[in-house]
Amino acid sequence: MPLAANVGDGERMISTLRRIIQAVNDAPDLEAALALLVRELRAAMATDVCTIYLRDRAAGRLVFRATEGLNRDRVGQFSLGMDEGLVGWVASREEPLNLEEADQHPRFQLIPDLGEEPFSTFLGAPIIHQRDLLGVLVVQQTARRRFSNDEESFLVTISAQLAGVIAHAEATGAVLSPTAGQFGDGARFVGVAGSPGIAIGEGVVLSPNADLEAVPSRQCEDRKAELRAFRAALARVRDDIEVVAENLREELSPEDHALFGVYLTILDDSSLGGEVAALIKAGEWAQGALSQVMLRHIRHFERMEHSYLRERAVDVRDLGTRVLAYLQDDQRERRQMPAKTVLVAEELTASVLGEVPRECLVGVVSMRGSANSHAAILARSMGIPAAVGVADLPMNRLEGLPVVVDGYNGRVYVNPHSQVRRRFELLQAEDTALTEELKALINLPCETLDGVRAPLWANTGVSADIQRARDNGAEGVGLYRTEVGFLLRDRFPSEEEQRQIYREQLDKLAPSPVTMRTLDVGGDKSLPYFPIEEDNPFLGWRGIRVTLDHPEIFLTQVRAMLKANEGLGNLRILLPMITNLEELEEARLLIARCHDEVLAEGFTQPLPPVGVMIEVPAAVYLARALAERADFLSVGSNDLTQYLLAVDRNNPRVAGLYQPLHPAVLTALKTVVDAAHDAGKTVSICGELAGDPVAAPLLVAMGFDQLSMNAGNLLRVKSVLRSLSLSDIQFMVDRLGHYRSAIQISTQVEALLRDNGLERFVRTGDRAQQ
Ligand code: PEP
Ligand code: MG
Repeated sequence: MPLAANVGDGERMISTLRRIIQAVNDAPDLEAALALLVRELRAAMATDVCTIYLRDRAAGRLVFRATEGLNRDRVGQFSLGMDEGLVGWVASREEPLNLEEADQHPRFQLIPDLGEEPFSTFLGAPIIHQRDLLGVLVVQQTARRRFSNDEESFLVTISAQLAGVIAHAEATGAVLSPTAGQFGDGARFVGVAGSPGIAIGEGVVLSPNADLEAVPSRQCEDRKAELRAFRAALARVRDDIEVVAENLREELSPEDHALFGVYLTILDDSSLGGEVAALIKAGEWAQGALSQVMLRHIRHFERMEHSYLRERAVDVRDLGTRVLAYLQDDQRERRQMPAKTVLVAEELTASVLGEVPRECLVGVVSMRGSANSHAAILARSMGIPAAVGVADLPMNRLEGLPVVVDGYNGRVYVNPHSQVRRRFELLQAEDTALTEELKALINLPCETLDGVRAPLWANTGVSADIQRARDNGAEGVGLYRTEVGFLLRDRFPSEEEQRQIYREQLDKLAPSPVTMRTLDVGGDKSLPYFPIEEDNPFLGWRGIRVTLDHPEIFLTQVRAMLKANEGLGNLRILLPMITNLEELEEARLLIARCHDEVLAEGFTQPLPPVGVMIEVPAAVYLARALAERADFLSVGSNDLTQYLLAVDRNNPRVAGLYQPLHPAVLTALKTVVDAAHDAGKTVSICGELAGDPVAAPLLVAMGFDQLSMNAGNLLRVKSVLRSLSLSDIQFMVDRLGHYRSAIQISTQVEALLRDNGLERFVRTGDRAQQ
């Protein structure tokens, strides 16, 4: 029944909406989804015309992409300027337009080319995804009619849902326009900074093992070799299945057993195998051909009414996945990596990273993951620029294309315009020159022009980090993330394994202090062998909460630390995610118990200092009490910023709101510094903020006793601090309460740096593009 007849019938409207959205989501591709939508929508709204225009970014136009009621021959051919006609008016104003007498509107224009008659009634809604205009959805009618408020909101609702479908299609590589498909004029994708630096190279897409959906389309060089590889993989799958069939001969009835034969015929030349071979002969590589044919048939089976046939989709997928696994094995062995490989993957794991020889790997990009994910940590410790969490990346279309990774800002540029490329080449050259030049500072003290000492410490994780810390002149380790050693294994490390790892860290830096944080998992850091599944992990079981609930893990770890400290005495223990005094007391009791135990075993070192991380707002307000009961404080500004501003630190959608220089964050930092000093204790800061050359002078002026950072930032920060007088920036700290925004603060510090000839430290990566 048409919607028009049901105005006011909310329930029916919702069910119509649900049905249309379901059908659109089930469509095999974007073209089919759009065609279906205009057809359904025209019927539901009982109107003459329904049309979708989509924005072509490269051309800067609204392209006529689907219609029911206008001239379909012009689909994909005709386009409008971004502010042309009523459609352009909707696009430029980004709000719905509901006109009973459209022909009276000053923007009205008739387009006979599309078969437009003088439609008098017009209702248009913009299609917007995350502030980004994707297109316009329009219904029109010859007979004069006023679309009701309900109909207008119906169209707006459909349009909002359609935006998600289109954004997803863009992300998964469904081509929106010929130029967009080729990234003709370059494209920029936004993610999260995973590892600093700039990489310029060629995209190499590595799919996760045997995932049919993740195989990129690629032209092959040697069709015969591809065909041979496909046939060899098929033969191996046949062998496997025959072995399984043989093993089950006794167990299955003869009828059931016969199913294996049927199963195998799916891959015959007369069936899907033949289709794959034909695609390879047409130039597609074997994996791409296999994936395309299999997915087409899987979708076909999945749409069948009959449940038996629907289940065949599972068989086809299983077979396809098996063949793909063999093909990938074979092709991995044969693959030649470009000299400057930018590795692109949905999820970067250590094993994916390991597939590219180190000398070829210049950058990494992943669709998933976060600044703290395993891959980002590894990339950082290998010194490879990385952008992670680039959720909208059309990964499968990046193979062989020029790619620039701005690891400072988490941006990826595909097929960049020559100007963009040149800009990054310049930045990269400056980076290299700066790194060389700064080496001269390694053995100089970090002291401001007016004589204030600012000890710079390093954050470490993998064992190589400790060497990098020394090489960059770190005066201590302010945060050793012990969880990294846990992440790299497939089970909890034993006490002795841990002792050896910790000993290396302590020994290499002795007598300088090394601050070891007790296991900090949960949130975005999960161990493969200790999964934590929660709806709200950042507000859930993480940090000290996990280890206090599992004293056996905590005690083993602390014992290992204490034993590793024997004969060195440079250990400090740090407790993550403390939100109340009881957690600190409990942890201290457990540490004291461990200490008694190791003394009883013959070890002799006194109890090391125990510190508290200030990472949540509650700890800021409790800082004085915590400082009285702890030996030192250390601010985890990454988490503190996320909890103070209620912004997930790894969510690219809200990355613009993640502002560590927000006046509220800086005020909290100052509160913590004062509380620690009032209690006579030292306080350090070990979040990413400490390594930001723009933030560091402010932090020293606030009174932080040490700044602890990724070793890669150490000399930059030192260079800035050695070139400034703290008295020049102290006034900013004194009037923190007057600042209204992060940008106001960063602009002021940046101006100060520029005035002191430190401009190059302001521009890490391409801030202009943020
Ligand atoms: C922090 O939260 O600032 C911090 C240093 O800890 P992590 O980044 O490991 O959560
Ligand atoms: Mg933290």
